[in-house]
Amino acid sequence: MGLSSDMTNRRVNIPTSTETKKSVSEQWNELVERLRQDIGEAAYQSWIKPIVVRKVDGGTAYLTVPTRFMRDWILAHYAEDLRELWRTLNSDIQQVEIRVNADRVSRTNLGPLNSEVTASESVPKSKNVGADDILSAPLDPRFTFENFVVGKPNEFAYAAARRVSEASSLPFNPLFLYGGVGLGKTHLMHGIAWHIRNTAPKRAVIYMSAEKFMYRFIRALREKSTVDFKDQFRSADVLMIDDVQFIAGKESTQEEFFHTFNALVDQGRQIVISADKSPSDLGMEERLVSRLNCGLVADIHATTYELRLGILESKAEQLSAKVPRKVIEFLAHKITSNVRELEGGLNRVVAHAQLVGREISMEATHDVLHDLLRANDRRVTVDEIQKRVAEHFNIRISDMHSARRARSVARPRQVAMYLAKQLTARSLPEIGRKFGGRDHTTVMHAIRKVDELRDIDQGFGEDVELLKRMLEN
Ligand code: ADP
Ligand code: MG
Repeated sequence: MGLSSDMTNRRVNIPTSTETKKSVSEQWNELVERLRQDIGEAAYQSWIKPIVVRKVDGGTAYLTVPTRFMRDWILAHYAEDLRELWRTLNSDIQQVEIRVNADRVSRTNLGPLNSEVTASESVPKSKNVGADDILSAPLDPRFTFENFVVGKPNEFAYAAARRVSEASSLPFNPLFLYGGVGLGKTHLMHGIAWHIRNTAPKRAVIYMSAEKFMYRFIRALREKSTVDFKDQFRSADVLMIDDVQFIAGKESTQEEFFHTFNALVDQGRQIVISADKSPSDLGMEERLVSRLNCGLVADIHATTYELRLGILESKAEQLSAKVPRKVIEFLAHKITSNVRELEGGLNRVVAHAQLVGREISMEATHDVLHDLLRANDRRVTVDEIQKRVAEHFNIRISDMHSARRARSVARPRQVAMYLAKQLTARSLPEIGRKFGGRDHTTVMHAIRKVDELRDIDQGFGEDVELLKRMLEN
C-alpha cells in the first residue's frame, strides 16, 4: 500500500523563493530532497534517483534517464514539479529537458512535450548551435498520424491535418484547429510536421508554441534583432503555432504574429494554428480574427466512449501491456475529461503492475487511480468554482478575470485559483488562462498565499474549507 499511496497522493508544496545562488549540484540535491519528502521514498527511488543532471545552459536544465518509459513517466508526473521547484532555487531556469540516455542511433528529431517541458531521445544533430538556437521546437516521436486514433469527435480535424500535410498546393490557409485541452491538437500538428519531414524533407517546417513565439519575439526586441527574427519565420514553408490563446491580450506579440502571418500567407506558405477556442472566442483583434476565419476552422470535440476505448487499446498495445478488457472499459467509462488524463491513467496502472510485478486487475486499478477517478467523478469545473466563490464573497464573476487588484476582489480570486488547483485536474498555466490570462506564477503565488492565510487566520481557513466542501458535493 505504501507504494500506491506514495504515487497517488502526490502533492508538492512549493516553498518560497530563496535567491542565493548555489551550484547546480547543490540546487539539485536540495530540490530532490524536497521532492523526496513530498512524494515519499518509494516514488523517489523509482523515478527521481535515477535522474542524472547533465548541465544547465541558457535557462534549460538538461537531465537524462535510462529508459524512455521512465522519461514518459517522469514527464507526466514530476516534470512540472521539478521545474517549479527548481525555479524557486534558481529563477533562471525556464525549462527542464529530459532525455533518454541511450547510445542508440540518434534521431534528428526529438520529443518535446507541452509548451515548456521538452523531452527528447537524443541531442539534436545540428552543427554547433545550442538547443536554444533551434527555431522549431522538437517533435514528439509518439505524435504521428499512425498513432492517432480517429473517431467521430476528431475525424474532421484529422482529415484536415492530413490534407495539409499531403498537399503541395494549399488546400486551405490557415488551418485552424481548436478544442479543449488534451484532445489531440498538438498531436495532430506534430503529425503534420512528421509527415512532411518524411515525405518532403526540403520543405521547411517550423512548429512552435505561441508562448515560445512570444518569448523569442521579446528576446529579439531586447537584442535588437527583430529583422533576423522575421527572416527566420518568413523562411518557413509551413509555420505551425500551437496554443495561440496564449497571446490573446498580449498586444505587441499579437501584432507581430499578425504581420508574420500575413507575410507568409501572401507568399503562399501554409499556416497551421491551434487554440483552445474558436477564432471568434479568442478575444483577439478583429482583423486577426477575420484572417483566421478565412481558412478552414476544424474543431475537435470531447471524446466519446468509443473513441476512448480505441485510444486505450492502441496505447496498451504500444506499451506492450496486457490490460484486461474489463479494465479498459472501466477506464473508458470513468476517465472522461480528456485523452491526456486517460493516457495518464493507463500509464499509471501499467507502471504500477510492472513495479510490483503483478498482473493488472480491477482492484489494482481502483487502488492506483482513486484520486483520478474521484476527480473525474466530481467533475467540478473552474467556471463553477469561480461562480461559487464569487457568490460567496459577493463579487462579480467578471472580477475573476479582471485586472483589478483591490484586495476585496484579489483575495476571492486567489481562493478560486487555489480551489481550482485542488479540485480540478487543470495545470497551473491552464488555471492562469481561465483567470483572465494570468501567468502560472501568479497562480502559484495565490496557492501559497491561501495556504499561508489558512494557517494564520482561522476564520479564513473555515471559509475556504466550507467552499471546498460545497463544491465537492
Ligand atoms: P492538446 O494539444 O489538444 O492539449 P495533445 O495533442 O497534447 O492535446 O494530446 C494529449 C495526449 O493525448 C497526447 O499524449 C496525445 O498523444 C494523446 N491523444 C490525444 N488524442 C489522441 C488520439 N485521437 N489518438 C491517440 N492519442 C491521442
Ligand atoms: Mg497542446
